[in-house]
Amino acid sequence: MERSKFLKVTCPRCKHVQIVFGKSTSQVKCTECNYLLAKPTGGKPKIRASGSVFVNMAVPL
Ligand SMILES: [Zn+2]
Repeated sequence: MERSKFLKVTCPRCKHVQIVFGKSTSQVKCTECNYLLAKPTGGKPKIRASGSVFVNMAVPL
């Protein structure tokens, strides 16, 4: 069991809510409309969506 930071992101285009890994180093797109929600900026991802909040989740591995 490992604790990681996740972001709960609301897509500004279609309001779809999805969970994004906070340390993602790849682009994250909305699963509904393909809007680019986050892109890597050499370290932590830049979240483009508004209303994103960090959530702590235990990841079952
Ligand atoms: Zn969307």
